[in-house]
Amino acid sequence: MRRVSIFGATGSIGQNTIDLIARAPDEYDVVALTGGQNIAQLAADAIRLQADVAVTADAARLDDLRAALAGSGIEAAAGAGAMEEAAGRPADWVMSAIVGAAGLKPGLSALEQGATLALANKESLVTAGALLMGTAKQHGATVLPVDSEHSAVFQALVGEDINAVERIIITASGGAFRDWPMEQLARATVAEASSHPNWDMGQRITIDSASMFNKAMELIETNEFFGVAPDKIETLVHPESLVHALVGFNDGALMAHVGAPDMRHAIGYALHWPQRRELPVERLDLARIGQLTFRAPDPERYPALRLARAAMEQGGMSGAIFNAAKETALDAFIEGRIGFLDMAHVVEDVLTQLSSDSGLIRAAFTLDNVTQTDHLARAKAQETMMAVATRS
Ligand code: NDP
Ligand code: MG
Repeated sequence: MRRVSIFGATGSIGQNTIDLIARAPDEYDVVALTGGQNIAQLAADAIRLQADVAVTADAARLDDLRAALAGSGIEAAAGAGAMEEAAGRPADWVMSAIVGAAGLKPGLSALEQGATLALANKESLVTAGALLMGTAKQHGATVLPVDSEHSAVFQALVGEDINAVERIIITASGGAFRDWPMEQLARATVAEASSHPNWDMGQRITIDSASMFNKAMELIETNEFFGVAPDKIETLVHPESLVHALVGFNDGALMAHVGAPDMRHAIGYALHWPQRRELPVERLDLARIGQLTFRAPDPERYPALRLARAAMEQGGMSGAIFNAAKETALDAFIEGRIGFLDMAHVVEDVLTQLSSDSGLIRAAFTLDNVTQTDHLARAKAQETMMAVATRS
């Protein structure tokens, strides 16, 4: 039996992972499931999958979790220390599907004990790619991409020489506002930004899709994961979300990955890798679909892409700054403190302000340095937003 743990089990990726695992209960020995506020879901899944331990990140919810697990024999734990302890429990395969930079530490702990890490949590690669990939190397552990575009690239590269890659093209649906007039974007509401045309995902990544911050993060993720230079990585708006990525080789060939917009494709690929196994996903009828369309992303509509390029070119801690500023701006947008377009302004301001500090940007990639940079960028983002609020 394979020992598996799922971090962020109650979220969209976590639930899709559980869907696959629950179909073959005899094959998996579930070690740890972690969640946040959704105690009922966490407890129900822990009982259904007979997990060893269920952990909520919120220390204040321990009693609720204990009550929900009463009589099941499943251990309940809560808070940051418990998350770390659970992440360090030996497992063969771990799904990293917490949202935000909070996913970094548990991911590192899983790699330190040699687990194969299925990485949905793109924030940990953007924040500390060198640290995450370095830790994997040091412990002989494997990181597998779960983001659909990166899984697509990974699959297109099987048996290929990375040196023969001329370019990597990751596609973007264009998000909720791809056809909105620009002047309306400033007034876009949280509810409007939280509805994705093709994918059913958590709220934060859905809003990031509308602003293209999701694709911006994915550019950095591509650079960190595959080690391909920034100028070889492109984005292409593809409203149908059926081609997930394309890899261009030095003989002019383009290998595309085509599939239904269902995250169980990428999760299942990472779960069964290096094999392919049957998955319960829709088979595309291309004759019925008829046509696939593509267009270049509009740089004015999507400033996040330019900001990601600036961060990649600068390197070092810029990814950590980019991610922390983006997470803080996204919180503020969700809470109604700033407008939709202000998110990019905040990220740009913070990147510009902190870029001049070369000691900060070039600091060694330790967890302490990354954490400090993350905190500093969050504080700067708050300051920037205060200044904007005072002006208006
Ligand atoms: P969700 O918001 O649906 O789920 C997030 C999960 O993380 C939940 O289990 C949540 O718990 C938990 N969580 C939230 N905050 C914390 C915290 N501070 N500490 C520990 N756990 C926390 O997100 P998604 O499933 O959509 O996304 C998860 C990750 O996967 C993100 O990094 C996202 O970018 C990435 N991803 C997602 C895709 C998708 O299709 N959804 C596609 C590609 C990548 P609770 O809900 O119980 O509070
Ligand atoms: Mg993606």
